Amino acid sequence: MSEQKFLYNENPYKKEHTGRIIGKSNELGIKVDELIFYPRGGGQPGDTGKLLLNGQCLKIIDTVKDAEGQVYLQTEEMSAIGNPINETMATQILDWDIRYKYMRTHTALHLLSVCLPFPVTGGQITCEKGRVDFDMPESPDKDELTDRLNDMVKADYAVSYEQISQKELRERPQLIKTMSVKPPQNVDFVRLVRIGTANSVIDLQPCGGTHVKSTAEIGKLSVSKIEKKGRMNRRVSVVLQD
Ligand SMILES: [Zn+2]
Repeated sequence: MSEQKFLYNENPYKKEHTGRIIGKSNELGIKVDELIFYPRGGGQPGDTGKLLLNGQCLKIIDTVKDAEGQVYLQTEEMSAIGNPINETMATQILDWDIRYKYMRTHTALHLLSVCLPFPVTGGQITCEKGRVDFDMPESPDKDELTDRLNDMVKADYAVSYEQISQKELRERPQLIKTMSVKPPQNVDFVRLVRIGTANSVIDLQPCGGTHVKSTAEIGKLSVSKIEKKGRMNRRVSVVLQD
């Protein structure tokens, strides 16, 4: 199986990239060797944008991952692509405005998990908002929570990454906050996302998503809704203000 490189892990700010096509599936889409499009998963939608190849401009409507972890770019124009296409150079162009909103909202949800240190049972990000389900019995105060989040945004904490072995992660189970999304089991190392510095850690948890590089980039936030979704479930939604 051809190896894919997931460039969005090291550089989520890359908006355009030319790679090689290494496969095609009528059901799943087009496979490229080096990807900047992030696949749907863990509550974050798959990236959309354009793929330029052989003088054509294909609209990419979703990005998905198969059971083996291979990522495909989906288009409704599969039939328009000639055969064979392997080894064809193709340029990915991200819908950057949408992706950047996902990055800001996703990072904001990490901050939310700092304010509410309860197990996370679900989460979702859209263009308009992000929400997290917490396993908690009481509803927090909306205005207080909004203030705390904005304080953390203003503090401009750095967001950085480190790798942890599966063995070390098993020895530090407290790092895993999200019960609904388990870290991948088929890899030797899992990525940890750190907010803050090594000496002053605000948040540290395994996450494969796309984040901004500092919390100030999130901008002003507000908690738009807190819903009771069962005795032990509070759904908290946040929206970006600009
Ligand atoms: Zn994350």
